[in-house]
Amino acid sequence: MTSILLLGSTGSIGTQTLDLVRQPKSGLAVSGLAARASWETLLEQAKEFGVTQLALTDPEAAALARPHLAPGTHLHEGPEALQELIHACDFDTAVHGVVGCAGLPASVEILKRGKRLALANKESLVVAGEHLMALAENSGAEIIPVDSEHSAVLQCLRGEDRARLKRVLLTCSGGPLRLTPQSDLDRVTPEEALKHPNWSMGPRITIGSASLMNKALEVIELHHLFGLTPEEIEVVIHPQSIVHSMVEFVDGAVVAHMGVPDMRGPIHHALHTPDRPPSPVRGFDLQAFSKLEFEAPDPVRFPALTLGYECIRAGGDSACVLNAADEIAVQAFLDGTIGFTDMNRVHRAALDQRQGDASSIETLLAADSRARTHARQTVQELSMSKPAHAGPALPPSTNRS
Ligand code: MG
Repeated sequence: MTSILLLGSTGSIGTQTLDLVRQPKSGLAVSGLAARASWETLLEQAKEFGVTQLALTDPEAAALARPHLAPGTHLHEGPEALQELIHACDFDTAVHGVVGCAGLPASVEILKRGKRLALANKESLVVAGEHLMALAENSGAEIIPVDSEHSAVLQCLRGEDRARLKRVLLTCSGGPLRLTPQSDLDRVTPEEALKHPNWSMGPRITIGSASLMNKALEVIELHHLFGLTPEEIEVVIHPQSIVHSMVEFVDGAVVAHMGVPDMRGPIHHALHTPDRPPSPVRGFDLQAFSKLEFEAPDPVRFPALTLGYECIRAGGDSACVLNAADEIAVQAFLDGTIGFTDMNRVHRAALDQRQGDASSIETLLAADSRARTHARQTVQELSMSKPAHAGPALPPSTNRS
C-alpha cells in the first residue's frame, strides 16, 4: 500500500486524487487530509477513508468543525496547520493540491522529510524553484509533477539521455478565449473566462488558462524541474488537449505524450511511477481525435506568456512577484473589480517595482507579501480610474525566444 498525505483535499486535485484511492485494488491509503475552509466536505472525506489526522488552515472553519470530530481524530488548525500535519502523519507520498504561494511552506516541509512530493501546487516551484530543487537533492526527496504537461515531459524523457534533449514543446489549449479578438478582450466576463473547453480545474488556473498566465507559470515550472533554458522551451497552442507535451531530441525525433484530458492521469502517474498500474482514465479513441491542430500563441493578445520567459531571464524574485500579482489580479477580476486586460497591467506594475532578493525562502515570502500589497494598490487605482480597462492592454515585452 502507498500511504498518501493529501493537501487541498476538497479542491479539484484533491477530489480527483480521492477518486483514484476509491478504485478497487488501488493500492492507496490516506493518512492525512487538509483543506482551507470546506470543513463539512473534509469531515465526510475523513469518515469515508478512515482518516484521523486532519488540518483546516481557516481558524473559523476549524472552530465549526471541532464539535463534529469523530473520537480519536486530531484536527490541526490555523496558519501552521499544514506543517503540523506533515510532521504528525506517516506517509509515502504527499499530493499537494493547495492553490497559490500559500502552499510553499508545506512543499518545503515535505521535501525536508525526504518524501515524494506529487506537486500540483506549481506556485511552489515558480516562487522558489531553485531552493526546492536543492532541498530535494539534499534530502533525497522526489518532486513528481502533477501538472499534466510536466508529467508528459517526464514520461517522454523516461530512459532518455538528457544531454540529447533539444527542446520541449509545451502544449497549451489556448483556453476559452483563444479565438476572441483583441478588441473584445477587455469586455470578457468572469463567466466567459471560466468556461475552459477541455479541462476541469479550479478557478485560478482556469482564468490563467484564459490569459495564458498559467502557461507562463508552467514555462517557469518547466525551467526549474528539468533545468531548461528559455530557448529550450517553446509553447504551442493545441486546442484539442490530446498531446500533453512533446520533447524534441538532437536527432530530430519528437516524442509526444498523448491521452484524454483527465487530471487523474497525471495524478495516477505521480503516485505510481515508475510503475503503470491500471487506472480509471479512459483509453484513447483515435477516431474521436482524428484532427490534432498546432499553432503559435499570439503574444499581442496574450502578453502574459511573455512574462514567464522574462522572469526566467531576470531571475531573483521576479517569478515570485509575478505570481503574487497574478493571484491578486485574478481575484480582482473574478470579483468584478477590474477587467480582463487589466490583469496585464497589474502584472507589469508589480514586476516594475520588484526588489530582486531571492536568497532564501523567507526573503521570497517577504517579496510575495510586498508584491501583493502593491498589486492591491494597482487594482484599486485601476478600479477608480474606470473606464481604464476599456483601453488597450500594455504592450508585451519583446524578449521572448
Ligand atoms: Mg498544466
